[in-house]
Amino acid sequence: MTPDRLDRFARHIVLPEVGAVGQARLAASHIVLVGMGGIGSPALQYLAGAGIGRLTLIDDDVVEASNLQRQTIYTEADIGQPKATAAAAWAARFDPALTVTHHVTRITRANAASLIAGVDVVLDGCDNFATRLAVSDACVAAGIPLTSAALGRFQGQVANFAGHRADHACYRCFVGDAFDAEDCDTCADLGVLGAMVGMVGAFGAMAAMRVLLEGVSTLGDPQWGQLHVLDGLKPGLRTMRIAKDAACGGCGEAL
Ligand SMILES: [Zn+2]
Repeated sequence: MTPDRLDRFARHIVLPEVGAVGQARLAASHIVLVGMGGIGSPALQYLAGAGIGRLTLIDDDVVEASNLQRQTIYTEADIGQPKATAAAAWAARFDPALTVTHHVTRITRANAASLIAGVDVVLDGCDNFATRLAVSDACVAAGIPLTSAALGRFQGQVANFAGHRADHACYRCFVGDAFDAEDCDTCADLGVLGAMVGMVGAFGAMAAMRVLLEGVSTLGDPQWGQLHVLDGLKPGLRTMRIAKDAACGGCGEAL
């Protein structure tokens, strides 16, 4: 690392749980962010801040005025712009040393494999189950870990999945097959508190970093298949273990 990069990441490097070797790994890592909305926005801020060297941003939506209450990287000047484009522009301004690619598209069963090929981890913060299941299945097929971060009103859920590994659950083991056809963008109907998505997005960013640092430094304990459930009102946190489903359509033995 050059002196300016050492200086930029000094607070990470001094942490024994990350260290210089961990920071070097982060700089050499490639992450895909699925969904640049309420969760993707703060996740991007902390992942770019952490110096993740390559970031691929995927979203097919455009910035609306009602997003600004929680999607913290966007400003009024971005209204009407594709979120992926505006998010990539934000990242380029924030740290020109990062390599940022963006796709103004919806990730689907048809394009997921090519969009995630070769990356180290996928962070899914999108707003519907059909996309989440397509992304999960593609991750299992490609042998890529998945960080899932989701929010329903005041409950956040964050977990790392490694369904491609024996004895580890995938996201489909967790939610089942019932939601494949469902599109439940409920923010508009139910409401969402901006600070809540900030907490869940930052939690997801840290979970993804745990994946990237596996085998490198002590922060690298991905806690595979442990679902962290954050109650923002109480506030409280509980953790439950998701078991691998032998009959799972994403990662089961029948495949
Ligand atoms: Zn599974």
